[in-house]
Amino acid sequence: MPASFRNMSLVPRVLFGIGTFDQLNSVLLSHRRNARAPFVFLVDDVFTQRHDIVQKIPCSYDDQIIFVSTIEEPTTIQVDDLVQQIILNYQELPSGVIGIGGGSVMDLAKAVALLLTNKGGASDYQGWDLVQSPGVYSLGIPTISGTGAEVSRTAVLKGPEMKLGINSDFTPFDQVILDPELTLDVPKNQWFYTGMDCFIHCVESLNGTFLNAFSQVHGEKAMALCENVFLNSKLTTLEKSEQLMMASWLGGVSIANSQVGIVHALSYGLSFVKGIKHGLGNCMAIEHLETYYPEGTKMYRKMKDSHQIDIPSGVCEHLSEREYQQMTKIALSLNPLWENALGRNWKSVVNEKVVRELYEKM
Ligand code: NAD
Ligand code: ZN
Repeated sequence: MPASFRNMSLVPRVLFGIGTFDQLNSVLLSHRRNARAPFVFLVDDVFTQRHDIVQKIPCSYDDQIIFVSTIEEPTTIQVDDLVQQIILNYQELPSGVIGIGGGSVMDLAKAVALLLTNKGGASDYQGWDLVQSPGVYSLGIPTISGTGAEVSRTAVLKGPEMKLGINSDFTPFDQVILDPELTLDVPKNQWFYTGMDCFIHCVESLNGTFLNAFSQVHGEKAMALCENVFLNSKLTTLEKSEQLMMASWLGGVSIANSQVGIVHALSYGLSFVKGIKHGLGNCMAIEHLETYYPEGTKMYRKMKDSHQIDIPSGVCEHLSEREYQQMTKIALSLNPLWENALGRNWKSVVNEKVVRELYEKM
């Protein structure tokens, strides 16, 4: 029997370059269905004070800007509330949903676009290929680089039982605008955490059993770009911004045709039980994974030291038995991640005890 290859769905239209955010208006023009079908802009509330950016959002007719807090990672309830709010506010479905922010806001935008046309709640679609119909037109504009959410086929949400993505061919944005200028003011620690998310995507893809030539070429280039951004002090700020934006994209494409691994499995548990955000959770996890990713861990430490980043430790010190169990259960439930990392027989290598011991070190 022939092998079954993944028929990847990627973002069909991409605008890249410094200042491309200014073209948002012209990009949207042809997608407005009529005056009653608005564009809804979901915008990270860090930009409430950035009039230079907000003023460039091309609002007309009944378009609406909704500022979104990213203190916590997006949830299925938040998606359902936004969908409800949009449906109640307008007579017609929106012409499109635009997400302006990091992974949190972009995932929220992708999920809202889908839930406007698919019945039920967002948690019904957490998993793989459960979405039945295309969402409304969606457009993503990253303002921080690393997650690859701008290119991926998933919208990661915390749901009632766990953190899990809405993975489907309908999830990717219809259009992405990559303007490196938008990422220039990201605070240093967050720049590092989210940038490391990209580096770790590459480590996990390149060291995984699902690796193939497609993932490899994208992953290798993304990894080289990360190392340049975080270790080459000769780069200008704008060059770093451009290169990390491209790394994020390529890292996202790499895992689209392979998978992430142990760092992500552990990070999902940390996020759900302790509310530790994705990039930081990944850093906490890779600190203790030299057995599984020796080269990646070594390079990660070099980059961390070079930027004098402190990663909190002892976060699992006071966990209750129930919390440990919940965290371990979430991590171990992510079968494809473990299989990619350790092969089909991963259950003979990793069990609750192994995972708990890793968490105890964090
Ligand atoms: P984020 O979106 O939560 O943003 C992190 C912080 O950076 C926030 O405080 C935000 O306000 C701030 N910020 C963003 N842009 C800024 C700017 N230009 N200037 C100043 N501050 C800015 O962080 P993230 O790491 O981009 O995303 C994490 C989320 O992405 C998690 O929910 C994670 O699960 C998800 N994720 C999704 C995918 C995917 O493929 N869909 C992949 C990896 C991670
Ligand atoms: Zn990630």
